[in-house]
Amino acid sequence: MSQPQANIGVVGMAVMGSNLARNLASREGNTVAIYNRSVDKARAVADAHPEAGFLVAESVQEFADSLARPRTAIIMVKAGGPTDAVINQLVEVFEPGDIIVDGGNALFTDTIRREQAVRDTGIHFVGAGISGGEEGALNGPSIMPGGTAESYATLGPILATIAAVAEGEPCVTHVGTDGAGHFVKMIHNGIEYADMQLIAEAYDLLRNVAGLSAPEIADVFDEWNRGELESYLIEITAEVLRQVDAATGQPLVDVILDQAGSKGTGVWTVQTALGLGVPVSGIAEAVFARALSSKPAQRAASRNLPGGGTVTVDNRDAFIEDVRQALYASKIVAYSQGFDAIIEGAKEYGWDIKKGDIAKIWRGGCIIRAQFLNRITEAYAQDPNLVVLLAAPYFRDAVTQAQDAWRRTIITAVQAGLPTPAFSSSLAYYDGLRAERLPASLVQGQRDFFGAHTYKRTDRDGTFHTLWSGDRSEISAEDTH
Ligand code: NAP
Repeated sequence: MSQPQANIGVVGMAVMGSNLARNLASREGNTVAIYNRSVDKARAVADAHPEAGFLVAESVQEFADSLARPRTAIIMVKAGGPTDAVINQLVEVFEPGDIIVDGGNALFTDTIRREQAVRDTGIHFVGAGISGGEEGALNGPSIMPGGTAESYATLGPILATIAAVAEGEPCVTHVGTDGAGHFVKMIHNGIEYADMQLIAEAYDLLRNVAGLSAPEIADVFDEWNRGELESYLIEITAEVLRQVDAATGQPLVDVILDQAGSKGTGVWTVQTALGLGVPVSGIAEAVFARALSSKPAQRAASRNLPGGGTVTVDNRDAFIEDVRQALYASKIVAYSQGFDAIIEGAKEYGWDIKKGDIAKIWRGGCIIRAQFLNRITEAYAQDPNLVVLLAAPYFRDAVTQAQDAWRRTIITAVQAGLPTPAFSSSLAYYDGLRAERLPASLVQGQRDFFGAHTYKRTDRDGTFHTLWSGDRSEISAEDTH
């Protein structure tokens, strides 16, 4: 293989890499080189998909030789050490101007580190968040690349050939430099956690307060999917709820153990947001809800604790509509919090992230794809410097419309003793944001009492301290320095 013939290469031939390579090969104009540490796997992928016309490389050097310049390679291997190992191998055989793309699920700070390490060689390093799982990789994912504008000039058109298409536009955009793409992918996953938890809470209310059966709730979700909640997650929820377990004849949802797992991106989102001081409370509650579910011993030990009373629903249709509105309002909060994290992350790391474009590329190919994202794009188009998404006219109207139902739903859940941490925390966040005054004034007073942490006043400038252990007069804090 001495003639460079491929315009793109993929390293890593497990499910994601092979599907992405097949997707690339199926698009007009792409010739794809593939490489895998265990070469047999790459050969097997090429044999299983002769239509793809893969160029199988037997070594990293052969892989580099098969790529036309600037060489462009997408790494799809296990995140962490394996990604570093492959980057190091490629750096050895690539040249200045070539492009290495990490399409795995990297933590954005690792991507920043890797980009810095590779930069001196003159090779471009791009961290690309790729959403949509195996199916998306094969048929069209949402792609969030971060890297230099120069590398995007080569890479962008190639990625546009394989990305999902939403309303005629490919779901890919140049997110920003270095770790911006993986950062935005992380926030996407965090929002996904919140969205799933909110849907699960809505299900729980319909099942255990309104007394609907699983297939009846599937019908409700199908109905919701025809309105403003239209989304992939609502659609698949209906499918899961309709599924009957072959072994027992029961709804599958009733035989699945109620302990939710996670692969860590929700935790990353919350940890990052904590560091940035962004209250992503809906996402955090979703992560905690999975953690609580996975504590069987604690749950068993708590089973006999007293709970709420029996709540009867007089008007089932009205209750279902209340739950729908509560879900919609809470979902708006979750997205608003997610975009808040993007805004703060962009400030912290110096990225110029176009929020409206991010909402656009999430409309297809990814797990949180939804009709609703168009409203977010519109909100940022009207005001690119929107302080908080929740206060944009469309969303303000939506939560205004929903808020009575939202409050009623949470009151009912509390009375019934049904946990709705994401619904409840979303409403608390909403009430916190819109409050004229918060009890933070008291907290600041307490801080000043025990730690002389000082406070500011509402009526004049300056920083102050009360001499709590003295005569309790107030002094200007500047005087103490
Ligand atoms: P994976 O199971 O995460 O990784 C397997 C691949 O990594 C194989 O090609 C393996 O090569 C290679 N590998 C492992 N250690 C290596 C090393 N030290 N040096 C070189 N190669 C090494 O594969 P995956 O599920 O397809 O995922 C690939 C990436 O996409 C991951 O970062 C994952 O987080 C991300 N991702 C996955 C999904 C999903 O739904 N699965 C969705 C989005 C993103 P060998 O065959 O030689 O062992």
